[in-house]
Amino acid sequence: MAMAKKKIAVIGGGSSGLCAIKCCLDDGLEPTCFERTEDIGGLWRFKENPEEGRASIYKSVIINTSKEMMCFSDFPIPAEFPNYMHNSKIMTYFRMYAKHFDLLKYIRFKTSVVSVTKRPDFPTTGQWDVVTETEEKQESAIFDGVMVCTGHHTNAHLPLDSFPGIEKFKGRYFHSRDYKNPQEFSGKRVVVIGIGNSGGDLAVELSHEADQVFLSTRRGAWVLNRVGDEGYPVDIVLTTRFKAFLKQLMTTSMLNKWAENRLNARFNHAHYGLKPQHRITSQHPTINDDLPNRIISGKVLVKPNIREFTETGAIFEDNTREEDIDAVFFATGYSFSFPFLVDCVKVVENQVSLYKYVFPPHLEKPTLAFIGLIQPLGAIMPLSELQSRWVTKVFKGLIKLPPASDMMANIMQKKEQMAKRYVKSPRHTIQVDYIEYMDELACLAGVKPSIPSLLLTDPKLALEVLFGPCTPYQYRLQGPGKWDGARNAILTQTERVIKPLKTRAVGDYTHHTSKFYLFKIVGAVTLLAIILAYI
Ligand code: FAD
Ligand code: NAP
Repeated sequence: MAMAKKKIAVIGGGSSGLCAIKCCLDDGLEPTCFERTEDIGGLWRFKENPEEGRASIYKSVIINTSKEMMCFSDFPIPAEFPNYMHNSKIMTYFRMYAKHFDLLKYIRFKTSVVSVTKRPDFPTTGQWDVVTETEEKQESAIFDGVMVCTGHHTNAHLPLDSFPGIEKFKGRYFHSRDYKNPQEFSGKRVVVIGIGNSGGDLAVELSHEADQVFLSTRRGAWVLNRVGDEGYPVDIVLTTRFKAFLKQLMTTSMLNKWAENRLNARFNHAHYGLKPQHRITSQHPTINDDLPNRIISGKVLVKPNIREFTETGAIFEDNTREEDIDAVFFATGYSFSFPFLVDCVKVVENQVSLYKYVFPPHLEKPTLAFIGLIQPLGAIMPLSELQSRWVTKVFKGLIKLPPASDMMANIMQKKEQMAKRYVKSPRHTIQVDYIEYMDELACLAGVKPSIPSLLLTDPKLALEVLFGPCTPYQYRLQGPGKWDGARNAILTQTERVIKPLKTRAVGDYTHHTSKFYLFKIVGAVTLLAIILAYI
């Protein structure tokens, strides 16, 4: 008799939830996704008004991770789509994905998960009682596994306690999640606090309407461009296996110096008031091609942290004062929590202890997993997908987790590494590097591409895997979930990058010389020799 399929509750129908459903189906599990709103897409579905319990974005948001790096690994984004997509286009892609893999029928919309608790026989069954609420009616059901895909950019971090006098300030103040459009600030004097990607985007957009924007930062930031060398998306240029390998050969100080020099060659961060005390690799990157332009035009003035607010303005830590301030935007980030999970997971100031950022280490059975609870240096979607591919195999019992003590040791080691590398801030608690983390998960899921064997069997593909961008398709070349289209997707990725730019014919400017290919081959052979020497 065939075994009944394990029932899995997927909480949230954003990009993480969608790929979690798909991976459950691929591995023969039976998913039910609960999404509290009426539609898929999570954060990326723009609405004119913020909704309780769902992330909220401004109308103009354009993603800062490029399409080849952010797509799901067996579903490339159409060639004609722009490299950096507006949120509406991202929604189009998610809808295509959901339709192609027929995912919608597994989602129960307008249904919130209100509690997830261990069943009394949990130590033997690993089962959960999941209570949901649909139009004020509660229901309970038993699940064999739970995938939490609720995102971590929903709860506003609004640190009013750190800003004395805010209570007497007579202007308006908002968190960035409540900002939608710049029009109503036309002719106003506004302050933006925080220089993450929200702070940068808001300052730039508001500066086109407002009379004056002050961008206040307690730490400063190194600012990267979306548009990288030769006009390729910056993540395509930087995220290659070859560069990851070179990075290992450099000291952190050499790497910082090289990167900071490159950014300062574009504009001197000290002259622009942005230079931080910390080195570039110690902070989550701020990506903004327009910010220096708005600063040099005087529309954005960079200021230090605010010491206190007055009724009409702000006094900064350098004792300068700006009066007649109409509005203040706190682009001060987010905190996360899981109110439906009472006993299993503790979150303190965005610190959480999860093995590989996925599994709580102390459960008797590994049947609870967090998907997308990471802050990658790069796109989150392929990482959520690879986490899901690993998790579904653990749920099925095909892969075992190490003992709790080993998992805890691994968690502590990661926390120490993070504390050493990043400046202390609640925004730096779940940081992961794109290739390193993808490879780590891929090893666990048995899908890491073998470079030595590729070099021997398919050198053309191997060269692209090594020197080209480490796109998600690489994790579909072998192992469980292998996709026949992966090779072609890799070999045609550059075409898909260039295609949407070619809206006026000007001839072909590609000038990869034979020297360039020779360099690649010599590099590849050297790498192979090094790899072989180590295995
Ligand atoms: P979400 O998109 O937040 O989806 C979570 C879903 O869970 C929502 O639909 C919500 O309604 C549902 N939900 C929550 N609680 C419950 C419950 N109890 N019951 C039922 N349903 C529930 N990432 C990138 O990779 N690249 C970028 O360029 C990028 N830009 C960003 C720009 C902004 C302004 C912000 C704030 C974030 C950005 N991010 C970016 C990060 C972003 O979080 C991810 O891109 C992505 O949205 C994460 O998807 P998710 O499915 O994990 O979470
Ligand atoms: P964030 O990255 O957490 O940045 C928060 C900023 O606020 C930091 O500069 C932080 O400074 C500052 N801050 C926090 N508390 C403060 C305090 N008490 N006093 C002064 N400053 C304080 O948040 P975010 O910018 O909203 O970004 C959230 C996520 O969305 C990130 O993943 C980001 O990449 C993404 N995002 C992407 C886009 C895009 O793709 N276009 C746009 C917006 C956001 P410290 O560094 O000193 O802590």
